[in-house]
Amino acid sequence: APLPNSIEARDIAHHFHPFTNARRHEEIGPIVMAKGDGVFVEDIDGKRYIEAMSGLWSVAVGFSEKRLVDAAVKQMAELPYYHSFTHKSHAPVVDLAEKLINIAPVPMAKVHFTNSGSEANDLIVKLLRYRANGMGEPRRKKIISRLRGYHGITLAAASLTGLPNNHASFDLPIEGILHTICPHYWREGREGESEEAFATRCAAELEAMIEAEGPETIAAFIAEPVMGAGGVVIPPVTYWEKIQAVLSRYPEIVFVADEVICGFGRTGEMFGSVTYDLKPDIITVSKGLSSSYLPISAVIMNDRVYQPIADETARIGTFGHGFTTTGHPVAAAVALENLKIIEERDLVGNARARGPRLQDGLRRLADHPLVGEVRGVGLIAGVELVTDKEKKVAVQPPGALAAKAFGLIQERGVISRAIGDTLAFCPPLIIEDEHIDTILATTREGLDALAAEMGM
Ligand code: PMP
Repeated sequence: APLPNSIEARDIAHHFHPFTNARRHEEIGPIVMAKGDGVFVEDIDGKRYIEAMSGLWSVAVGFSEKRLVDAAVKQMAELPYYHSFTHKSHAPVVDLAEKLINIAPVPMAKVHFTNSGSEANDLIVKLLRYRANGMGEPRRKKIISRLRGYHGITLAAASLTGLPNNHASFDLPIEGILHTICPHYWREGREGESEEAFATRCAAELEAMIEAEGPETIAAFIAEPVMGAGGVVIPPVTYWEKIQAVLSRYPEIVFVADEVICGFGRTGEMFGSVTYDLKPDIITVSKGLSSSYLPISAVIMNDRVYQPIADETARIGTFGHGFTTTGHPVAAAVALENLKIIEERDLVGNARARGPRLQDGLRRLADHPLVGEVRGVGLIAGVELVTDKEKKVAVQPPGALAAKAFGLIQERGVISRAIGDTLAFCPPLIIEDEHIDTILATTREGLDALAAEMGM
């Protein structure tokens, strides 16, 4: 039991945790982190963990990057805060916008800053509605997303997120948001259906939805190049080719790539859009943009998206959206330095070089009695657990198996993440071979311990 007046006791008393079972938390309390060092974090008891999730898919450059601290301190001293409403600006946002346009995987025109991935995706819903009004097409406001896609938690972003259980909790989705099939071949593929045939079916379902709703009512299709928080779902072979072929038949529909997880090296290229040859009109980024040292995100849009919006601002006088802290100078300065580090140290190259060691190593777990499927690309991976490999099912309730495995692996010093019955891995891009080997060995030990506990 936590000691009175300890951080744990105070945490239980006053700190309401996101994505947490509050009653369970009252029983077990938190692990309180105190320090970060490269790919490691250390708790207040001095126990060290490899952070094999980069926090929440975030910390590209590791947990102790002094250059980011210095960039923040310098900016804090020069101009700690200013805004970018109504013709005001400052150097960090100007430079960061230019940098993002320069490294974007396709020609882009404008960057609108926000403070989180959710706010970036929320903004997209507003941008697209505003644009539809600007184009004199007020019916073109529906957005198609995918089941199990994760796009955030504000009301509009949570609506884009394709988690029906979560929607039920909050009376969502908002009007005009639709969800098409999740491209999880291992789960959703039918008996005897090839991966390519499954990809064809995913594309056909998207097209059928567009036709059923009326193409003139669809503003956009939004998707992550690799689904992250939905359980690390890797696109089946030919999936993106076929989805983009459908979209090319409806040139008025805007394609949004949510690169909040994939962006800045995760898949072994600077963007997931490069890995999968995507041609998005809008890209959202966050997390790896600043390694989450400070909150910042951005919506990057091409000219075809921007122009009708600009016309509409001229007509009605303003684009009525923005936060007090939009394009915060300290966060922008940290993001700029973070991108410089990613380039100078070739961390994208490191992700490409080390990725196979993680992926091949995890795939060697496929022989384990509790492992159903292993999938991943670059430095993002998922290990889906089952108790019956044949039927692809795990013990009830859903998620209980991975939660146990996660706990046993964490006890042994590696932090992964349980998403349903999938264990996710997404280590910092600075990771080295020896850390990968520890992650692999520890994961196997944790799974072996669980199998032994279950008498398997
Ligand atoms: N999009 C994707 C792909 C994400 O993974 C996340 C966060 N996991 C978000 C959006 C939301 O970002 P945030 O938590 O910063 O609001």
